[in-house]
Amino acid sequence: MEPKIEVGPDALWIEWPDGHQSRYPFERLRALCPCASCAEREVDSGGLRVIEQPSERAVRLSRLERVGNYALCPIWEDGHSTGIYAWTYLRRSCDCFACRSERRGEER
Ligand SMILES: [Zn+2]
Ligand SMILES: [Zn+2]
Repeated sequence: MEPKIEVGPDALWIEWPDGHQSRYPFERLRALCPCASCAEREVDSGGLRVIEQPSERAVRLSRLERVGNYALCPIWEDGHSTGIYAWTYLRRSCDCFACRSERRGEER
């Protein structure tokens, strides 16, 4: 079963088949971009990828395309469109309290 996606004015929402809901503010979603050119620019600040001073258009979502049944590809207003966000990657990147504490538990 595929997750349900909803694009809000400032964030992407995903409802997972297990009922869990994740919210990805666009700025964070862009910072999570897994493509090679973003990974090169990656500045590691506590595990979160940070774009140095993202422009306003870089964090505005133009549209969202599905890649097969395994990933999403956001098209940003600055034209960036090479990030393929696999569902598993997005789920792993969920920043809600429950997922964060679960991950902390795994690290121990
Ligand atoms: Zn990228
Ligand atoms: Zn979560």
